[in-house]
Amino acid sequence: MPKLHLGPSEPNHLFTVYCSLDSSALKVNAPKVNAPKANAVEYYNSSKIRAVRLKPGKSRESIGRHPWILDASVVESISPPRQGEQVDVLGADGKWIGRGLYHPQSRIRVRMYAWSQEESIGSELFLRRVDQAIELRNQMLARTSHSDSLRWINSEGDFLSGLVVDGFAGNLVVQVTAGVVLPYLDAILGELVSKLRPRSILLSVDEKTAKSEGIEAREHVVYGELPAGPFSIRENGLTWRVDLVGGQKTGYYLDQRDNRLAAALWAPKGAKVLDVCTYAGGFALTIAKHGVCESVVAVDSSAKALDLARANAQSNGLTDKVVWEQADFFEALSLRVDRGELFDMIVLDPPKLAGARDKVPKAMAAYHRLNYLALRCLRPGGVLVTCSCSGRVDRSDFLDVLLGSARRAGKDLQILENRGAGADHPVNIHCPETDYLKCIIARVP
Ligand code: SAH
Repeated sequence: MPKLHLGPSEPNHLFTVYCSLDSSALKVNAPKVNAPKANAVEYYNSSKIRAVRLKPGKSRESIGRHPWILDASVVESISPPRQGEQVDVLGADGKWIGRGLYHPQSRIRVRMYAWSQEESIGSELFLRRVDQAIELRNQMLARTSHSDSLRWINSEGDFLSGLVVDGFAGNLVVQVTAGVVLPYLDAILGELVSKLRPRSILLSVDEKTAKSEGIEAREHVVYGELPAGPFSIRENGLTWRVDLVGGQKTGYYLDQRDNRLAAALWAPKGAKVLDVCTYAGGFALTIAKHGVCESVVAVDSSAKALDLARANAQSNGLTDKVVWEQADFFEALSLRVDRGELFDMIVLDPPKLAGARDKVPKAMAAYHRLNYLALRCLRPGGVLVTCSCSGRVDRSDFLDVLLGSARRAGKDLQILENRGAGADHPVNIHCPETDYLKCIIARVP
């Protein structure tokens, strides 16, 4: 299979990224793309690396290789390291644990990138990991090439905490979620250009990150030309409209790619399908295209999402298969329970319901109710595709919720597939937060 073709751009542009480190803005001029790579930021790193000590109870055993050392774990120092400085992290017992980059303002006080004292954190380490991430995706693409869009770099899942890179038909979106990554950004961008030959690169630091990391929010094209309006990407034999910067800005959930197809393959013959929280029509249209279903009802509370979904139905010639409904998920399901309306497949893909730790109990209750109502609307032999993208609700908790819903509904449930995000979103076993997407496919006998 061919490698993903990212377009013909000549790598001869110069980009300039303004990196705001603490109060003074630091301007880092990107190297010409063909210039030697490792010229970014070694200026912090003195030969003697400073150490940060953890509080009592925190040791190599309890930390493991988790890439985040939180502020609450670190012993305050009279002269704390500077922002972005490379530090050694020592347990309360004084034993060396690992090496990371320090940020005095961030709740993630040290982001860990190295677990060996031989390894130094600099452009060279970042570029090596970028190359490894790309290589892994090329391996994946050699097996499955049903998309022209994918996640090239998945932050902690690729040992690059704070950096996410998505490709949409050759247009890269580079998302920085950690201030300590900024000094290496120009080198990283140069590497992405030389390895992937993108059409464009959009750099994004969202408001939430900007606030929590004390850096500047931004969203601008730093390389090439991004289509001014919506453009199409391909996935699972369908085209999907995305608009990364326009007024009607729309993105796309790349992580559900394989789950959409898996759901379609489980749809019983002649199925009546309900897709709850359809957004761009992701599950609904994939099932309409590949499932041997009779009809699909797709629900979302957002009119804008449904407009996008209708446009996708139109361009894929699937308008007569799907009925779009603007409604709240609880209302849409309760209405069906009251009417006694039954389906052969129900997809539940709500937004992140537990954004913060204190939202978890409420989120669990909402997952319980959603799944309970859906189970009551499934015919014998029907299939439930139930998802949760809340990183704070772990997989076993989500399965517990499902168990509770099945008990309350008095139904048997066979778990057919216990799925996560696609292989382009690898999970770091030391960082359970990277296993954020759960997609359980289960059958009511
Ligand atoms: N299934 C989609 C992704 C869903 S994202 C895919 O395959 O790409 C979550 C969606 O839930 C968003 O479109 C959002 O508008 C919708 N949503 C949020 N709250 C909702 C609610 N209370 N009722 C119905 N839809 C809701």
